[in-house]
Amino acid sequence: MTLDELRAYFEGELVIGEREIGLFDRYLDLLEEWNERMNLTAVRDRGEMVEKHLLDSLLAMKALKGKRFSSAIDIGTGPGFPGMVLAILMEDVRWTLLDATRKKCEFLSAVKGALRLGNVEVMNARAETLPKERWDLATARAFSSLPMLLELGAPLLSVGGHLLAMKGPRGEEELHSSLRAMKELRIVHVSTCRESLPGGDGERLNLLFRKVSKTPRKYPREFSLIKAKPI
Ligand code: SAH
Repeated sequence: MTLDELRAYFEGELVIGEREIGLFDRYLDLLEEWNERMNLTAVRDRGEMVEKHLLDSLLAMKALKGKRFSSAIDIGTGPGFPGMVLAILMEDVRWTLLDATRKKCEFLSAVKGALRLGNVEVMNARAETLPKERWDLATARAFSSLPMLLELGAPLLSVGGHLLAMKGPRGEEELHSSLRAMKELRIVHVSTCRESLPGGDGERLNLLFRKVSKTPRKYPREFSLIKAKPI
């Protein structure tokens, strides 16, 4: 898929103007360039990058429709999905792109600089070490199991904040196995946006949650515990 086809795909739903197309183009140039030196994505073909990374990230916009945010964090953003893509579209939202791997953050900083994105902050840290209640949106794609994401994400959100978990076709089952975690973390499921990915790439379930009250202080636990004993 080309960038023009991407624009046509979202016609009537998202405003993707010349500015955004130009920024996406430059972003993919950099991704291709850096990908030759370090492994940022297994996707090598440009058209496939548009579909698997840009389009998929933009589908998150549909799940967030009608909601206003002033600050957002993308947890385990890797090369910037969905965070960098959403930051390009949501110019008035302050985005924190978080990743534990330094090399990925170097790439993200290079993109931020080249694209002059004033609303992006790159953070090289682990989610479980961040300050609490600081963001009103958290997103994550291909990050972890749902209970683990909820435990790491909920404390970061201010009360009333939203968390968007980008899941695959088994998202519904994951939701069912996270009921206890949701209750314990004071987070409720708000909506599910079901999308079929083009090119027979299966289904994307975008699960949206809202934090209804303060996260109990014992969360997040140490990472080894979160992993060994999910809520
Ligand atoms: N969201 C991207 C990357 C997914 S790979 C995409 O969809 O393409 C998961 C990423 O999470 C990796 O880049 C890894 O470095 C990062 N990560 C893993 N554990 C983390 C943690 N505890 N805190 C922050 N980042 C983490």
